[in-house]
Amino acid sequence: MGGQNEPLMRDLYPDKIFYKIKILYIEDTKDDQIILKHLLEKKSKINFELVIVSDGFDGLRRVNEEYFDLIILDYKLPGMSGLEFLEKLKKLDVKTPVIFITGKGDERVAVEAMKRGAKDYIVKDETDFDRLIKAIEETALEISLPKNISVEVALNIANLFSMHEALSAEEIEYLFEQNHRLQLEEILSALDELVRVGFAERKPLHSAIACPYCGSLKPNLLLQCPHCGSGNLLKGEAIEHMNCGGVDLKFNFNKDEETLVCPKCGKKVRQLGVDYRKVGTLFKCSNGHLFSLPVFNFKCLSCEKNFEINEATLKTIFQYRLTRKGYNNLLLAFRADGSNIINFRDGSWEHS
Ligand SMILES: [Zn+2]
Ligand SMILES: [Zn+2]
Ligand SMILES: [Zn+2]
Repeated sequence: MGGQNEPLMRDLYPDKIFYKIKILYIEDTKDDQIILKHLLEKKSKINFELVIVSDGFDGLRRVNEEYFDLIILDYKLPGMSGLEFLEKLKKLDVKTPVIFITGKGDERVAVEAMKRGAKDYIVKDETDFDRLIKAIEETALEISLPKNISVEVALNIANLFSMHEALSAEEIEYLFEQNHRLQLEEILSALDELVRVGFAERKPLHSAIACPYCGSLKPNLLLQCPHCGSGNLLKGEAIEHMNCGGVDLKFNFNKDEETLVCPKCGKKVRQLGVDYRKVGTLFKCSNGHLFSLPVFNFKCLSCEKNFEINEATLKTIFQYRLTRKGYNNLLLAFRADGSNIINFRDGSWEHS
């Protein structure tokens, strides 16, 4: 990915929708040169510029002259081996990622290459370039992402947006219930980073209660008795037996369909307005307390802690959607995940 201070093309040309990954391919076998170029063109959605040189000397010259995103390096090269090339690269302090290619049976060399700073290695198989294409795609995806966003997070975000055009933070949390490998916070902060670089846009939807302990957006409303804190409540029409002052929910008076009996004094209650009256809707707790309004608290479904409304965190819930630029930059993630379900064309989504 280049040295720390090396400008990336996406920073130099932030509006450029398609980023071209610049690849240096150091390979002396003509057939391999042709095959890789052909496969990248045909099998991959990578927008690339491929510079091919036949030995390490030419390779070093090119690296000195221009910036590359990725180097693909064959082990067996005339004059200077791939391992020697890696050594020279290190001395030049070039930090471009290198995918190292060895032949079958050269696994020891591969280990040595990794020690000398290669990012990945591929054991060359005459007929199968798939692994190499995949490694190149992964690097291309990594390059097209903002710093601090991992390929794994990008794949997850691409996966979310392959099925949903726009998603709120709450919906994302809901969708993530099945997938606990990543934290919601990680996805949301990655999305905010995508907004910052223009890959996504967001708009505020509403405010929501969040758990002050874990940040979850799924606290459950907890209704409690104001006298004893019991959360086991009943709600209903209440009546008062005027003779004794006994108040209770109406169904507690119902001896049968027609007969009302006061649960306090045990006497029959006969006529509305004469010996009993309606007192409106009341709550009753499991300990027998009657009250008109329960206390509202919250129970977090993630960390299971209880908290009160004044302890709660209030969060602005945003709805996110990928911009055209973001979609194009994450295109490889959509592909890598095997879900080419939706295509983004001219600002609108099409199912294919
Ligand atoms: Zn109570
Ligand atoms: Zn009574
Ligand atoms: Zn919590």
